[in-house]
Amino acid sequence: MFEATQLIDGHQSNGASGRTLTVTDPRDGSPVTRVPVSTAADIEAAVRTAREAAPEWAATAPAARAAALHAAADAIEAAAGELAGIMAAEMGKPVDGARESIGAGVGTLRQYAELGPTHRGRTLAGDGAAIDLMAFRPRGVVAVITPWNDPVAVACGLLGAALVTGNTVVHKPSERTPATGGRLAALIHPHLPPGVLSVVHGDGPAGAALAGSAVDLVAHVGSTAAGRSIAAACARTGAKALLENGGSDPLIVDADVDPGWAAGQAALGAFVNSGQICVAVERIYAHRDVAGAFLDALTAEAATWGDRIGPLVDRRLRDTVHEQVRAAVRDGAALRHGGEIPDGPGAYYPPTVLSGCADDMAVMREETFGPVAPVATVDSFEEALGRAADSPYGLAATVLTRSMSHAQRAWRELPVGTVKVNAVFGGAPGGAAHPRRGSGQGFGYGPELLDEMTVTGVVHLEAPPGGW
Ligand code: NAD
Repeated sequence: MFEATQLIDGHQSNGASGRTLTVTDPRDGSPVTRVPVSTAADIEAAVRTAREAAPEWAATAPAARAAALHAAADAIEAAAGELAGIMAAEMGKPVDGARESIGAGVGTLRQYAELGPTHRGRTLAGDGAAIDLMAFRPRGVVAVITPWNDPVAVACGLLGAALVTGNTVVHKPSERTPATGGRLAALIHPHLPPGVLSVVHGDGPAGAALAGSAVDLVAHVGSTAAGRSIAAACARTGAKALLENGGSDPLIVDADVDPGWAAGQAALGAFVNSGQICVAVERIYAHRDVAGAFLDALTAEAATWGDRIGPLVDRRLRDTVHEQVRAAVRDGAALRHGGEIPDGPGAYYPPTVLSGCADDMAVMREETFGPVAPVATVDSFEEALGRAADSPYGLAATVLTRSMSHAQRAWRELPVGTVKVNAVFGGAPGGAAHPRRGSGQGFGYGPELLDEMTVTGVVHLEAPPGGW
């Protein structure tokens, strides 16, 4: 069993509460990690040491901060096998997939190590010798609150961008993956001065205590409900809230595409990581001209995905996913594949395909964090666009089309941060995301995250009378 610990001021500890949480393995329900629950006093101590360490870290040369990130990336790379084993045991992702996403995290750290030192200000020329300088400064202390579904890659993005720009960080990993978060911090912190990176643990209340503490920015990746309560806490303290939250991403299958290829894209988008991805395909609008062939191909695809995916993170999530599927069937959707809870241990759920779905079904309207592909048939691209846009979320959307004008309409008209044309995943490595509506606020990832992690100081510079 893994024993996760807090990390405050460079020291590991169990905290003052004496309370612990036990994480169970989603593959068989066995206990896998014991983690202490940080108290308000532990969290305050972590924030205080981060505040004390902030001036020196802010004054450290960007190239030296970048070198620390590269050294941390080397350490994570060397320990990737061990870290993938912990991640697989805590959140159920097959080990190969876990290694892949740790590789993505390492890449992100290296990317911020390269971008940090080149993150520069601007100048504006005024009258005569007058000039306005805009220089980026770190915000100060950043609270980083992360989810379980991609625990290393997500944390590496926020930690990398915050640290390379000279902020100090208090990280609270998800209560579902505390040993993964703890091991990641143990690999990074030897390369930093004490106090620059601290780790506290616990569930929602610990996250809320950190979000309401004396920090300068709260960066949260997680559910919309938690993000909203963090935004309210930040409104009280004056901290900036940076939120990358849930989604209900649509996939539009246009009349002119190969339905077999479209089914492969839909299955990948809906089933990989057992559907537990913020930008998973959550609802599908298929044009009537191809809907029959598309559904047949998607049903056949689903049958090939059963052995490729791990369990859901726990049975509570499985119950929620299954209830959404059952409610859809009760309300008239047809179950084309899956949809039954298997016998046996763990929190497995099969790749599931539904057809004849309506937009007011929870499986279409809400985020379904499971391997479910609900399909609605539409009569026109216009109808697909309108129905795709009608959502409380605004994370991402995909359109599969051969028509450039349809692709253009999608990126101009869909009220989402990211529009993907002809690929459910991908894009430039290190690309930014800018969610809207219930999906969050501020840039996540990309060079733009460096702007979010900094404040701009403006200097108006003029020569004294008679010149310098
Ligand atoms: P969650 O919001 O329940 O938990 C995430 C983190 O927030 C955890 O560390 C948790 O302890 C903490 N937390 C929970 N309630 C809190 C509160 N009231 N105040 C402060 N902190 C709180 O989310 P989850 O279930 O771990 O993760 C799944 C969700 O994350 C999904 O909705 C998914 O779409 C989203 N997600 C979004 C992105 C993105 O980039 N947009 C990426 C990954 C996951």
